[in-house]
Amino acid sequence: MVDAVRTFVRRSVLPVASELEHADTYPADLVAAMADMGLFGCTIPPEYGGLGLDVTTYARVVEELSAGWMSLTGVMNTHTMAATLIRLHGTEDQKDRLLPRMATGEARGALSLSEPDAGSDTRNISCRAQPDGDEYVIDGTKMWVTNGERAGIVALAARTPEGITCFIVEKEPGPSYEGITVSRAISKLGYKGLETVEMSYAGHRVPAGSVLGGTENLGRGLPQILSALELGRVNIAARACGVARAAFEAAIAYAQQRQTFGSPIAAHQAIQFKLADMGTRLEAARLLTASAAAKLDAGERADVEAGMAKLFASEAALEIATESMRIHGGVGYTTDLPIERYYRDAPLMIIGEGTNEIQRMVIARGLLRRYRTG
Ligand SMILES: Cc1cc2nc3c(=O)[nH]c(=O)nc-3n(C[C@H](O)[C@H](O)[C@H](O)COP(=O)(O)OP(=O)(O)OC[C@H]3O[C@@H](n4cnc5c(N)ncnc54)[C@H](O)[C@@H]3O)c2cc1C
Repeated sequence: MVDAVRTFVRRSVLPVASELEHADTYPADLVAAMADMGLFGCTIPPEYGGLGLDVTTYARVVEELSAGWMSLTGVMNTHTMAATLIRLHGTEDQKDRLLPRMATGEARGALSLSEPDAGSDTRNISCRAQPDGDEYVIDGTKMWVTNGERAGIVALAARTPEGITCFIVEKEPGPSYEGITVSRAISKLGYKGLETVEMSYAGHRVPAGSVLGGTENLGRGLPQILSALELGRVNIAARACGVARAAFEAAIAYAQQRQTFGSPIAAHQAIQFKLADMGTRLEAARLLTASAAAKLDAGERADVEAGMAKLFASEAALEIATESMRIHGGVGYTTDLPIERYYRDAPLMIIGEGTNEIQRMVIARGLLRRYRTG
């Protein structure tokens, strides 16, 4: 699978990635090819039509895609998290009905937790789902919904009388559907080619059966969503590894070709030290990511490990992309090479799936629990 994705990236992604990215064009053909390869069903079990890959293989697939174009992993990530939420917590009916359509990519998924006034502070969300007979009426504004417009299934956090509840909202892809409107397309520094949107809900009605896992899970939305965030953080760590690897490999190749003062710049110790630090950080990032993925594969709680992998790999990607630009000199600053794209894509990973400040809080909390003395 990893080899197949690597070949796909070499043949089909690399030749078009920068052009599509600069034009901020949705990569419809690449997404269709990813669906044909079964990538939308990566972690969905075979009985629902998915590939049933373990997290370790999934992380390697994500790294390969991201080394070609990081945005392609964004097309998959919240889809995979929504599918994971349904797989882990859904009713039999939700699993039987939704997972097969998600596995083929026929129905694409999104995860909608953040709001204009609630990003890190998820408990502060104000989107409401008001009970009305055997339905709920949803009102509010959600922010940063990646894949929101093209999604047919949105895992949505909304406030009910019991607390925060996760609803599986089924909609038609497009700018508006029965009270759901894409109220703004957010323009971004990088991570282009796929939509990240603000979505407004005004009187959108869902049946009570759309509560994730059934109405006995009213008020249990946050722990449900947090359980899928561990996989999301491994995804972010793996994409950071992909961007870091691409930036490092470009730098180490260029350093051996570019001559200054009569020798390749790779002969200068200042450049060698950069390459040594970049290679070491990349290797450490990949090992931490593999270790977090292995823990999830073993069925263990991996909040600390997934947080460490996400924290370290994203900071490494940011540094390696910057150092790669330095090593490339002026040409690294142009749009002739993909270095500027790595440099613009890397910062997303320090913010997405919980900022690195929040990541440190999660890690510290977990470590203090693990090493409790009193
Ligand atoms: C391109 C993009 C795509 C996204 N896609 C999605 C998506 O599909 N679905 C979704 O639900 N969300 C998505 N997000 C939202 C993302 O998860 C949030 O942006 C992120 O969690 C940070 O929230 P915030 O932007 O509100 O920042 P804030 O929470 O306002 O934080 C601002 C700053 O304060 C720091 N901070 C906050 N609280 C603390 C604290 N207690 N201690 C120390 N520092 C603190 C933060 O680390 C940060 O540096 C996306 C974001 C981006 C940029």
